[in-house]
Amino acid sequence: MEITTAYVGVGSNLGRSEDIVAHAISDLRAVPQITEVQSSAYYLTDPVGNVDQDRFINAVIKLKTTFSAEELLAVLHSLEKKYKRVRTIKWGPRTLDLDIELFGDHSLESEDLTIPHPEMFNRLFVLTPLLEVLDDDNVFKDEVIKAERSLAGSQYIKKLI
Ligand code: AMP
Repeated sequence: MEITTAYVGVGSNLGRSEDIVAHAISDLRAVPQITEVQSSAYYLTDPVGNVDQDRFINAVIKLKTTFSAEELLAVLHSLEKKYKRVRTIKWGPRTLDLDIELFGDHSLESEDLTIPHPEMFNRLFVLTPLLEVLDDDNVFKDEVIKAERSLAGSQYIKKLI
């Protein structure tokens, strides 16, 4: 069976965000098809878009999985539901947001899935934590470093201890 290394972005700005993120990571660890779950540090970040809302807690999780990208997305959606994410306003507050940023060296575009995530190279809240856990030989590494450098200082992001 094929094993893929994937990178999942996690964010929350409603409720007890740090606890929600930690619980979601434990839930991923408990899935038999997912192994070697490793989280970046947590970061406090400004929301993107124009909606007035609280800052986010963000992290990036590295994991190995025998799932396809679509199967992994289904698991992420079930976790978003478990933490009662309500999709009200686009770009608005959410208890839990889980995105697939990278899935192996795949580039794909389907109706429900675009990989690499179409916004990841514009978001320090993805790029900075991603660089903590990204494999050295990842095919997107140079692009991630370049994008992170060019955005540095333009978006608020603070590592939490
Ligand atoms: P959002 O409400 O911003 O979290 O968008 C969620 C929708 O984006 C999902 O229903 C997915 O079908 C779609 N989507 C497209 N590409 C991705 C990706 N790489 N990771 C997660 N969701 C994705």
